[in-house]
Amino acid sequence: MARLNLIFLGPPGAGKGTQAEIIAKRFHLTKLSTGDILRDAVRQGTPLGRQAQQYMEKGELVPDDVMLGLVEETLDTVKEGFILDGFPRTLQQAKGLEKILKDRQITIHHVILLQVPDEEIIRRLSARRVCPQCKATYNLLSHPPKEDERCDHCGVPLITRPDDKPETIQKRLDVYRKQTAPLIEYYKERGLLREVSGTGNPEAVTYAIEQVLRNDHPQNG
Ligand code: AMP
Repeated sequence: MARLNLIFLGPPGAGKGTQAEIIAKRFHLTKLSTGDILRDAVRQGTPLGRQAQQYMEKGELVPDDVMLGLVEETLDTVKEGFILDGFPRTLQQAKGLEKILKDRQITIHHVILLQVPDEEIIRRLSARRVCPQCKATYNLLSHPPKEDERCDHCGVPLITRPDDKPETIQKRLDVYRKQTAPLIEYYKERGLLREVSGTGNPEAVTYAIEQVLRNDHPQNG
């Protein structure tokens, strides 16, 4: 099977993490979520975590040089195909990534753009809850836990991510529009952009992503 390397792009709450998880399992890829890596670092109180926390709580982006160092280090531990979830998020990061990959003769095959309207994002993020232990994600509207606000796997009370507070959600949307949305054009110009609607049920979105991957990569079918 040819190695498949993907980037998942889209606004916060578009379902990148959920879809990246499913697609990674089905296609035997490693999911690299910069948000998850940073949240772990914050929880463990590492130097990276201490540096990142102040930005994350405000809904701002962690500086590009920090992110590029982190991704370069992480990519060197990956032996199979990968999905970058939540990275790159700025033009500077995209250009830095291009160089990191070129040095290692690695190619990105598709950039999957998950499109979801703003009203839907606000609705989704306000209802998002996560398990502080196993990081499973729930949504009180579309994917509630079986027992009220407790993790189905660990039984511990679910929490709201600190950056899912209403004022921070708006800030993250603004940051996406200003700093991350220019990547759409950047990857379109490189012929890598594949737009997929992120609305509708998660299974339908997964199916749409799979169609893109299987059509262009019949050897993965
Ligand atoms: P996420 O879980 O992808 O929504 O990321 C949560 C937060 O982590 C973001 O709001 C940023 O503060 C930080 N973060 C994650 N990925 C990046 C990135 N590629 N560049 C800068 N900051 C990031």
